[in-house]
Amino acid sequence: MSRFRVGFEDSLGRILREDLCVGCGSCVASCPLGCLEYADGKPVLIGDCSSCGVCSRVCPRYECSVGEIERLIFGRERMRGEEFGVYRRVCIARTRLREVRVRCQDGGVVTTLLLYALENGLIDGAVVSGFDEDEPLRAFPMLAKSKGEILSSAGTRYAYSPNLLALRDAISHDCRRIAFVGVPCQIEALRRIQILPVKRYAERLSFVIGLFCSGCFSYDGLAEMLRDLLRLDPNDALRVRIKGDIAVFTVHGDESRVSLRDAKKYFRRCNLTCTDFSAELADISVGGIGLEGWTVTVLRSSVGEEIFDDAASRGLLEVRNADEETIRLLVRVSRRKRRIGLSNLRRLGYS
Ligand SMILES: Cc1cc2nc3c(=O)[nH]c(=O)nc-3n(C[C@H](O)[C@H](O)[C@H](O)COP(=O)(O)OP(=O)(O)OC[C@H]3O[C@@H](n4cnc5c(N)ncnc54)[C@H](O)[C@@H]3O)c2cc1C
Repeated sequence: MSRFRVGFEDSLGRILREDLCVGCGSCVASCPLGCLEYADGKPVLIGDCSSCGVCSRVCPRYECSVGEIERLIFGRERMRGEEFGVYRRVCIARTRLREVRVRCQDGGVVTTLLLYALENGLIDGAVVSGFDEDEPLRAFPMLAKSKGEILSSAGTRYAYSPNLLALRDAISHDCRRIAFVGVPCQIEALRRIQILPVKRYAERLSFVIGLFCSGCFSYDGLAEMLRDLLRLDPNDALRVRIKGDIAVFTVHGDESRVSLRDAKKYFRRCNLTCTDFSAELADISVGGIGLEGWTVTVLRSSVGEEIFDDAASRGLLEVRNADEETIRLLVRVSRRKRRIGLSNLRRLGYS
């Protein structure tokens, strides 16, 4: 335990200086003394740090044993050849709910599962990313407690949304069972919160949905990319979809496209050192790779499989087994992200 009695500056200072911090907000939400504030996408020390070590232990970029988390969540560590982490089944699925279909990003699996869980009393809130129609590209953490709020949060914002910060709202609103949706770095941070445990959050978690992620912008980076590469006013952009390339749909009904290769230099720098594409520690991981209108769904834990199967058996989802091509693509993209991330980490002196 003593090796964890380390102060914020000593543990996370280097992570911040080297642009490794993903800005997930896990340390800010978990600091027992409330010494940290979230500003400009990063934690900032604003009080007297007692060197309790909690901030480092919930940071997805600080030393961590993924095997320990896998044993806790899945009952075993990944086997050799499980390139995208532990899993039970991979399916493709899409919603049967029209109100979800009209606003979701891919097949609407995430929103359908959250609605199913809320309406059947499995959760009383979900931590998601909010949508603001005045600034549709901006993403912000939100605790959704009603059907309307869950529906309004559907769709993907490619700007980073530090969803973990909304865990605090779950406490202030006295939510006792929550679902959490987030990108891979947030899922790893959340699992660290569970394993430590930061009890006030850990004991409320019902299930966790992870989103595949090959990269993410800051809001400013996304706006700059639109201005530079597409000569587009960010306020005119309504929706972004990344599938092979980046498609931007505008309020005027136009569609513009830019290659992912050109856009990557506008991604957040910490992306370069991310190694997890498919949210390998989630109960259920989802993405749209290679498909239109369907969500590739990786069922990893028994908790995740049960919720998904229950929702499907009630007719909320149309489900098919994933074909070989989808699995091969998932393996390829996961391997690539891990290889690039690890090589950049090694260059910085991390093993
Ligand atoms: C930054 C980012 C990058 C992604 N990159 C890829 C990729 O490279 N390849 C791929 O296959 N899939 C990627 N995805 C996942 C994909 O876009 C869809 O979220 C996924 O397929 C689920 O689709 P759905 O229709 O089932 O979800 P929906 O039913 O539309 O629900 C989407 C959920 O995601 C939440 N959300 C939206 N934006 C954010 C955000 N910025 N941060 C956290 N949560 C958010 C919403 O609140 C909602 O709960 C990415 C997602 C994000 C957020």
